[in-house]
Amino acid sequence: MADPAECTIKVMCRFRPLNSSEVTRGDKYIPKFTGEDQVSVSGKPFTFDRVFGSNTTQEQMYKASAQMIVKDVLEGYNGTIFAFGQTSSGKTHTMEGILHDSENMGIIPRIVQDIFNYIYSMDENLEFHIKVSYFEIYLDRIKDLLDVTKNNLSVHEDKNRVPYVKGCTERFVCSPEEVMDTIDEGKANRHVAVTNMNEHSSRSHSIFQINVKQENTATEQKLSGKLYLVDLAGSEKVGKTGAEGAVLEEAKNINKSLSALGNVISALAEGSTYVPYRDSKMTRILQDSLGGNCRTTMVICCSPSSYNEAETKSTLMFGQRAK
Ligand code: ADP
Ligand code: MG
Repeated sequence: MADPAECTIKVMCRFRPLNSSEVTRGDKYIPKFTGEDQVSVSGKPFTFDRVFGSNTTQEQMYKASAQMIVKDVLEGYNGTIFAFGQTSSGKTHTMEGILHDSENMGIIPRIVQDIFNYIYSMDENLEFHIKVSYFEIYLDRIKDLLDVTKNNLSVHEDKNRVPYVKGCTERFVCSPEEVMDTIDEGKANRHVAVTNMNEHSSRSHSIFQINVKQENTATEQKLSGKLYLVDLAGSEKVGKTGAEGAVLEEAKNINKSLSALGNVISALAEGSTYVPYRDSKMTRILQDSLGGNCRTTMVICCSPSSYNEAETKSTLMFGQRAK
């Protein structure tokens, strides 16, 4: 296994295909793929750990960008996978995909399956305890997606000074099916709470957390690792004109939390001694699962359409800051 300390942050870039309304409008397909790790948009090249073109399958995406994290988590490391990009760029498709569909499911269900496959393959002396939480951050409020009555949770630190979301539901799970049921439950709760799910999901960060504890009953050796799987709010800029009141508040808040994340990631990538984790709730929560001895993968999701060129470039630049 690669030493996770050697390869802390990986940045993957994925372009979705043109959708039918973009084709109907006559948009051009703008990315030019110039190698496994490079893409050019209007003549400007961007380099990442890997670049994935529009016909990349969910399985290919998983194998190249996320599968290696599973083993690390089972060996006691922490990790985070993010999807970053403007609304409609393929973040949810990448993280979740179509649940319960073996071909089209995304990274989260594949990770869950692999974790259990690994456990089933291990010897009997190992006892595993897996628990999951599912919450979202909207306007800097943390809402438990597994218990709608908990809609303003706060971040605390445990005795080892590790931050955590206090009071968030933790569900012990024993099979991939139970995890999937938990995700379905969280998604259903999220739908009930809002009138327009597309709008809401583009303005909130959703975070699925998996904790794996294991104990060797013969040697009493214990290990624990955790993984955060984050579907970020849309990174698009809200137009200066027109936005006011609640919409403007939301936009400012999203900008603030995404730029706090960008600052943390680039401080980690540069090896800075000061990393500004405390600048947002999300970076505080993720503090012990980003950088250092953790695996962090950011998937930069992009639209290939000429119509979105400006947003796509700014998305690519955000990803580039982590390199
Ligand atoms: P986001 O979560 O970034 O707002 P979505 O993941 O919901 O975007 O994607 C928007 C639409 O594009 C969805 O209908 C999704 O199924 C489709 N889509 C996204 N990425 C791909 C892809 N790589 N291949 C095929 N369809 C995709
Ligand atoms: Mg989405």
